[in-house]
Amino acid sequence: MSKLTQTSVQFLKGVGPARKKILENLGVQSVEDLLYLFPRRYEDRSKMTLLSQVKIGEFQTVSGKVIARGSRQSWFTRKHVYETVIDDGTGRIFGVWFNQPYLDNYFQPGTEVVLYGQAALYKNRIQMISPEYEIIDKSDKSLSMGRIVPIYPLTKGISQRYLRKIIHNCIATYSSDLIDTLPVATRNKHRLLNINESLENIHFPENQIKQEEAQRRISFEEFLFFHLSIIKRRMNVLAQPGTQHVVDEKFRAKFKSCFPFSFTNAQKRVMEEIVGDMRKASPMLRLLQGDVGCGKTVVALMGCLAAIENKKQSVFMAPTEILARQHFENIKKILENSEFQNIHCSLLVGSLPENEKIELRKKIKTGTIDLLIGTHALLSEDVRFKDLSYVVIDEQHKFGVRQRAFISQKGLNPDVLVMTATPIPRTLSLTLFGDLDVSTIDELPPGRGKIGTKVLPLEKAPNVYAFIRDEVAKGRQVYIIYPLVDESEALDLKAAQTSFKHFEKNEFKGLKVGLVHGQMKRDDADAVMQKFKKGEIQILVATSVLEVGVDVPNATVMVIEHAERFGLAQLHQLRGRIGRGSKESFCFLLSDPVTPEAIARLKAIVSTTDGFKIAEADLMIRGPGQYFGRHQHGLNELRFANPLLQIDILQLARLEAEDLTQADPELNDPKNQNFKEIIQKRYPDYLTMATAG
Ligand code: ADP
Ligand code: MG
Repeated sequence: MSKLTQTSVQFLKGVGPARKKILENLGVQSVEDLLYLFPRRYEDRSKMTLLSQVKIGEFQTVSGKVIARGSRQSWFTRKHVYETVIDDGTGRIFGVWFNQPYLDNYFQPGTEVVLYGQAALYKNRIQMISPEYEIIDKSDKSLSMGRIVPIYPLTKGISQRYLRKIIHNCIATYSSDLIDTLPVATRNKHRLLNINESLENIHFPENQIKQEEAQRRISFEEFLFFHLSIIKRRMNVLAQPGTQHVVDEKFRAKFKSCFPFSFTNAQKRVMEEIVGDMRKASPMLRLLQGDVGCGKTVVALMGCLAAIENKKQSVFMAPTEILARQHFENIKKILENSEFQNIHCSLLVGSLPENEKIELRKKIKTGTIDLLIGTHALLSEDVRFKDLSYVVIDEQHKFGVRQRAFISQKGLNPDVLVMTATPIPRTLSLTLFGDLDVSTIDELPPGRGKIGTKVLPLEKAPNVYAFIRDEVAKGRQVYIIYPLVDESEALDLKAAQTSFKHFEKNEFKGLKVGLVHGQMKRDDADAVMQKFKKGEIQILVATSVLEVGVDVPNATVMVIEHAERFGLAQLHQLRGRIGRGSKESFCFLLSDPVTPEAIARLKAIVSTTDGFKIAEADLMIRGPGQYFGRHQHGLNELRFANPLLQIDILQLARLEAEDLTQADPELNDPKNQNFKEIIQKRYPDYLTMATAG
C-alpha cells in the first residue's frame, strides 16, 4: 500500500495542479486517498425510469434530451428561476432551479442529461425542483449510463463525470500495485473479496450483489483494524503495573453499615466484579451500565472508599457541575455519621473562586484530600495527586476516550470505572467501549412503585390538573415539565413562567406551587429544589433542567407538556424522577404529535420503562448518525463502516481480531506485520495513550 500512499494524484492523467488543489478539499492527496474516496450512493441507470412512468412524490433517476430551456423572475419570491424541459421519447419533465443563472451554459438543446430528484405535479406538468443533474457526454457514456453508477461527494469545481473518469483511470493504472491488507486465509475464512475486486466493485459495481460484497469486505477490514487497535490498547494498559488493593471483610461490613437498605443482587454481583479487579495488580478497565436509579453511585463509591482504606486517593468525575454537586452532596451525607466520617472529601468545579482552587490543589497534592469529586476541571494540568488509584467517570458518553486516558495519567495506572445511565445497545457498546469489561446492573432496588404512562391530547389538560389536585390532597407531590430545547429560547421559558403564574391563580389556587428553570441563579434554583424536597412545595413547574438527578420519593406525578418536543432519552430520564418511592406513579404526556418520529417516540415511552428497550427504540427512530452525536470515538474514527448498520460484520471482525491477538499478542508474526503497521498508522493515538492509561 505504501507506494500508493506516496504517489500524488497529480501523476494521474487529467489531474493538473489546479485540480489537485480542488481534490484536496475532498481529502484526496495520494492515489490511495482517491481509491478510498467512496461513492455516497449509487444510481442504477441500467433500468432508468421512463418519463411516461415517473412516480409523483418519489425520488428517482430519469434521463432524456434537453428540448427547451429558459429563465424568468418569480413574481412571488423575486428569485431567478431557471427551467429546462427534458424529453425521452415517452414523456417530458421540467427541471427547475433557483438563483443559478449559470446553468444555462450546461443545458444546450439536444444535450443528453440525467436528473435525480423528487417528482412533483405542478400546474399540470411534472417537474423536479433542484434535482441533481448530470450532462452525459458520448466519450464517457460507458461510465455514466446503462450501469450502476457511483455518485461521489463533490466539491466546487469538480463534477461526477470527472471524478468517475479519474477514479476509473486510477483503478486501471494502479490495481497491480495494490497490496491486500487481509491475508488469503482470513479472506477465505470469511468469504471476503480481495482488495482489487472490492475496489472495482465499490466504484463501478458489476451488479448489486457484487457491490454489497465489496462493501462487506471493506467494512470488515476497517472494523478489524479498529478492533485490533482497541484490543492492543487494552492489552497495553493491562500490562502496566497498577495498585493491588486490599479489600477485606471488615471493610465490606463497614461499607454495608453506611446504608439503611441492603444491596440488590445486581449491585452485589457488580461490587464483586469491581473488588476482583481492584485486588489484581493490573489496572481495572470497566464499564458500569445501568438505568437511572438502579444504584450505580453506591457501587462506584464502594471502590472509592476501598482505595482510601488502602491509603490512596480517588476521583469521581461528572459531566456537569449540577451532577458533580449532587454527587458531592449525596456522598457527603452518606459519609457523615458513618465509620467513614474522617474521610476528606472535596468538590472541584470550574466556578470555584481561584484562591479556593489553589488551596484545594495543594491539599490534593499533599494527599490531605482523599476523595475528589468534580467536573472536567479535574483534568486541568495543575491538578496533581499524591497517589491516585481509583477513578470513576460518570456518563462516559459525554467524555471522549482521550479524556478518559488523560485522567488516568494523573495516577499510576489507576483502576478506572466508567459509568453510564444511558443504556447502550450491546452491539454499540462493543464499538464505543470495546476496551472495557462490562458490568450491568439490571435490577432496580425493591419497593419501587409502578409507573403508568399515558399520552393525552392537549385538550385533556383540565382532567390531568384535576387528577393532580386529588393526588396533592393525598399528600403527594407533582412535577410539571415544559420543553426548553435551548436555554436561550426565551419563548419556551415564558411558557413555564406564564403557566406557573396561571396555575397559582387558577387551577392550583391555594396550593404551594414552585418554579425552577435553567436561567435562575444556582442558589435560587437550589433553594426551590430544597423546598420541594422538604415538601414545602407541592407542585413544581420546571423546564427540562430537571432531567438530572433529583431524588424525591414522594413525587408521584409528572406531567410533560408538549412531550413531542423531547427526545426519547430525555423523556426516559425525566420520567425516572418519579416512581422512586413505594407508591404508584403517573406520567402524563400532553401532546398532539404530528411527525411520525414524535409519534414513534411517544409510543416507545408508553410501552416500556426499561431503559435498554428505550435505547434500542431510540436508535431505530433516530437512525445511526444522530444517536450518539458526532464526537463518539469509534463512530467517527470509522470512515466507511457503520457499526449501527453492519452489526454482523462488526461482530465477525471483533472475533477475528480476538483470534489474531490471542495467537500473536504482539502481532510480531511476519504474516501479521502488515496489521501492526496499519494500526500504527491509523490509530497512533490509541497506542500511545495506552501506555499512559
Ligand atoms: P443511579 O446512580 O444508578 O441513578 P443512585 O445510586 O443514585 O442510582 O440510586 C438512586 C437511589 O436509590 C438513591 O436514593 C439510593 O440511595 C437508592 N438506592 C441505591 N441502592 C439501593 C438499594 N439497594 N435499595 C434501596 N435503595 C437504594
Ligand atoms: Mg488494580
